[in-house]
Amino acid sequence: MSGSNFMTLSFAARSENEAFARVAVAAFVSQLDPTLEELNDLKTVVSEAVTNAIIHGYDADPAGVVTIEAAIEADVVSITIADRGRGIEDLELARQPLYTSKPELERSGMGFTIMENFMDRFEVDSAHEQGTRIVMAKRIESKKALYN
Ligand code: ATP
Ligand code: MG
Repeated sequence: MSGSNFMTLSFAARSENEAFARVAVAAFVSQLDPTLEELNDLKTVVSEAVTNAIIHGYDADPAGVVTIEAAIEADVVSITIADRGRGIEDLELARQPLYTSKPELERSGMGFTIMENFMDRFEVDSAHEQGTRIVMAKRIESKKALYN
């Protein structure tokens, strides 16, 4: 595929939609012909960010709305995942490996660390009581590049 492309998706903050979001982004990105590993990395980060929006941003209130924007520019996919939930008061603390504000839910506090490690670009923007926006990007090598 040449040129640029984008898509936007909004859905209720229900845990059932986590799998939907992951598969939708994977289907969109498949036009770049990613390797299985790249696709799995993308699914994992979408899953982590959407789960965060639902359980932390909205405390699992299904009235909340999660929005995903994905864009392809040449061989780079950019993914923005946003909620209008409670926001993050201390971003530096939240981004630390193993930090979780919900240890009672058996969270491991690794979501942000995974997103940071799996993606080439990772940014968090958050304001208390206003919401959180994650912006990530990854260059896709594509299977063709591997075999040629
Ligand atoms: P895990 O992802 O391993 O299950 P976790 O969700 O607690 O555990 P991270 O994903 O790294 O760990 O997030 C760290 C902390 O940042 C969370 O515990 C929560 O306090 C805060 N946080 C993350 N995303 C959001 C969000 N969308 N809205 C509000 N708070 C968030
Ligand atoms: Mg998490």
